[in-house]
This record gives sequence, C-alpha cells and structure tokens, in this order.
Amino acid sequence: MRYGFVIDHNRCIGCHACTVACKEEHNVPLGVNRTWVKYIEKGEYPDTRRHFGVLRCNHCDDAPCIEICPTVALYRRSDGIVDFDGDRCIGCKSCMQACPYDALYIDPNTNTAAKCNLCAHRVEVGLEPACVIVCPEQAIIAGDLDDANSRIGRIVANEKVSVRKPEKGTRPKLFYVGVDDSLLRPTSMEPQSGHLWADKAPGEDLYALRKENGRGTTTPGIAREVYDVPHPPPWGKKIAAYLWTKSVGAVVLVIAALLSALQYEEQNRLLHVASPLIALIFTGLTMFLLVFDLKRPERFYYLLTKSNPRSWLVIGGYILGGYGFFAILWLAYGVLRDSPPPWVIWPSVLLALGAAGYTAFLFAQAKGRDLWQSRFFLWQLLVQALIAGSCALILMGFLLGSSPEVFRLLTKILSASLILSLAIMLGEIFLPHASEDARRASNLLKRGALSGSFWGLAIGAGAVLPLLLLWGPGDVFFLRVAAGLALAGVWAFEDLWIKAGQAVPLS
Ligand code: SF4
Repeated sequence: MRYGFVIDHNRCIGCHACTVACKEEHNVPLGVNRTWVKYIEKGEYPDTRRHFGVLRCNHCDDAPCIEICPTVALYRRSDGIVDFDGDRCIGCKSCMQACPYDALYIDPNTNTAAKCNLCAHRVEVGLEPACVIVCPEQAIIAGDLDDANSRIGRIVANEKVSVRKPEKGTRPKLFYVGVDDSLLRPTSMEPQSGHLWADKAPGEDLYALRKENGRGTTTPGIAREVYDVPHPPPWGKKIAAYLWTKSVGAVVLVIAALLSALQYEEQNRLLHVASPLIALIFTGLTMFLLVFDLKRPERFYYLLTKSNPRSWLVIGGYILGGYGFFAILWLAYGVLRDSPPPWVIWPSVLLALGAAGYTAFLFAQAKGRDLWQSRFFLWQLLVQALIAGSCALILMGFLLGSSPEVFRLLTKILSASLILSLAIMLGEIFLPHASEDARRASNLLKRGALSGSFWGLAIGAGAVLPLLLLWGPGDVFFLRVAAGLALAGVWAFEDLWIKAGQAVPLS
C-alpha cells in the first residue's frame, strides 16, 4: 500500500480552501502552512495568465528528511505516508534542510517540526484528508497508488503526470496534472522582492535582492512569482558559529601531535596543556552551540536515547564526545608534565579529523541545499580547521613564550593551509556546478548580494592579507595580526556558506 496524492491543476481555481481546511484540521498556527497555494504570472499586460500550484509534502518513497532526522521523529508508515512524531522532535531543523520541497516548518506553538501527514488519523478510519473533502473542484485526489483500480491509480497510469524535482531521486508520491512547469522548478521563475499583496523586507530574500536597485525585475516571457508563503532560512549565525568553534578546536591536537613527533617536546605547556585545553574549550562551545540552536534544547539527550544511527548529527555528536574525552586524557598527561602515549595520541588524531570533517557528510544529507553537496566541502572543512588550529596555537604560543622554531613551523602550516583554502574557495565558485541551484547559490557569492563580504572578508581580509603579512616583514606583531585575520576569514566563509546555501528558493 502506498498512499499518495494527485493534484489536478486543470481543475484548481486557487481558492485556498485546502490551505484553510488543513489549518483547521491540524490547528496550524498563523504564519506556517502544511499546504499552500502559490501564484505565478506569465506574459505581459494585457496578455497575462495566472497559474496556481498547490504545494505540500510529497510523501517521498526515498525521503531525505527521514534519513537526516537524528531522533526518528520522521518516519515512513507501512501505508507509505511520511508521518512525524512531535514528541520525539528536538527542533534541530535539519529535516527542513534535507527536504528539497520546503515541506516542513517549525510549529511556533510546540517548537517542533511539522508538515502534511496526509491526514493519517482520518485515513486510518476510512475518511479522506480534509483538503480532499473541502476542494470545491475535486482537484485533489488521495488514495492508494498501488491499487490499479483506485481513481488515483488510474490517473497516474493513464494521464500525463509530473512531480517536483525528480532529479533529486526522492520518488515523490504527489503527482501533478496540468501544472505549469515553472511552478515545479522555482529557479525557472524571475526572483521578486515583492508579492501581489506584500513587499519582502530589505535583506529578507538574498536571492531576490538585486544589487542595482534592491527590487525585483520582470523579464518578458519569464514567469513571475506573485504570491507565496514565507520560507525563512532554518539555520543562522549559531550554526556558522558552531562551524567556527569546531574549526578552532578540532585539528589543534593533530598539529600538537605533529610538533611532538618533530621533537618539540620542550614545548610541554603549549603542546600538552594549552592544545588539549583549546580542543576541550572549543569542542565544548561547539556542543553548546549545537544544543543552543535546538528549538527544544531540553530534549538534547534524545540524540542518545532515541537516536537514528544514519543521521550525521548523531554520528557527529559521538565523534565530538569522543574527541573531548581523549582531549581530557591528553590534558591529564600534560598536567603531570608527561607526553601522552600513542594510545591517546592516535585516537585523538583520528577523532580530530572526524570532528573537523563530519559536517561535510551532515551537509551532504541536507539534500535540499545543492551548494552544500559540493565535492570540495570536506577538504575545505579540514583546511579551515588547519588554519584555525594553527592560528589558535600561534596566539597561545605568544602568551606562553614559545620558541621561534615553533612559530616558524606554525607559520608554514598556516601559509600552506591559507593557499589551499584560497584555491578551494575560488574553485567552489568558478568551477562548473552540478545543478542550477548550486550555480545560482555560488553566483550569490561571486557577484550577487553576498559578493562584497565574500571578496572583501573571506578572500581579501581573511586569506590574501594574512598571507601577505606572513610573507612580509616577519615581525611578531604581523604574525599575530595575520592569525587574527585568518580566524576572522574562517568565520566569514562559514557564515556566507550557510547564507548562500539557503538563499536559493526550494519551492
Ligand atoms: Fe515530505 Fe520533504 Fe520528507 Fe519528501 S523530503 S517526505 S517532501 S518532508
């Protein structure tokens, strides 16, 4: 049994009755929607035409929201409905990043994720979903797609149907009849900074923001979005800060292990006390930011008690915990004025690399965000952790009076990683992209609304200037300034990467 929907746009009159009935049935608060009707217009006055698109969860057979959900709050029922359990949800918003269709929202009353569940409570007692009952045109058909004799089965078998973004491989069970193609492909529409009845606030929609005049444009022949519901980006500064603190704390023990292996053992305070302390403090901050960003932070322990082992949010939590544990052991040896043994150093190094890089796999599970599917992101995270770790050790080395040899080696590590980071950042925006969404997101960095910060802060002040200072006068003052700028550059890139990835509309 595979329950699904057909929405017939040859019948839809855009009356919003389905939206209202759904809100009534599920007590959906103001400002969020389980289903909504989007309006677009095509043509030039007086020869214009309006098209409607009824949008909601597709009850995907291969649902990325289920895979990423760390607490199994989202699950597929035996009848094919993708349902959710608000009592398990911790409000991490990762499902909103994984869904390529903007189907999920955070319920402001419960602070947990929610979406269309095909009125499972009605289906179970033989009733039809509320939107099906209310539609005055019978444009919404629900039923078992596996039943060839059902109305929905016959339509899907005999009529020309389409689904949203089939290239995502999610196998949607919501089929459209007679829908305008632009409604299924949001990037085929002209970005607008206002709607039929409302303007977007300045900066609210980076994608629509045109640098020339801050307003949308209308190009003849291109569809224009004239009505939609808000889709605020789920992740913000706290996630950028989490990436930054993780970069600072993650690879510092790898660098300390390298310095130890190169016989810089007399630097006990830097390598065996300060390094594990930096690792501990910044890994602790990382975990704090992760919890702080949850909409239900008091449920953070569900990551352990109700965990989905396929979610990289869960795997990452274990890696960070393990790294913190070995950093404590390393510190204990350092406090006793001893070098940590290999059974502490090697697991620390492996966990450090895991802590720096696991986010690339988490972001890859965020299938809705094409920019984050980048083949370079893992390497960028590792290189950024090298930059941040070497900067932290340089600044700490000044406090502890480390030897010039240590600074020379750290300067070499910092220079090499800054060059690598520059190459990766430029590769990210100039090399061909796998999808139109990824190309548009990178264009935001290259020449769009985020280009000033990208070129000025992440590239100029955060990478090129520190390199010039490192290669220049060789003065300790300049080394400190270079380390501070490079740390700021890592922050700038993380922040912009989060923003650009979420800026391209999904629906
Ligand atoms: Fe629904 Fe989106 Fe999950 Fe697909 S990925 S089942 S559309 S919430």
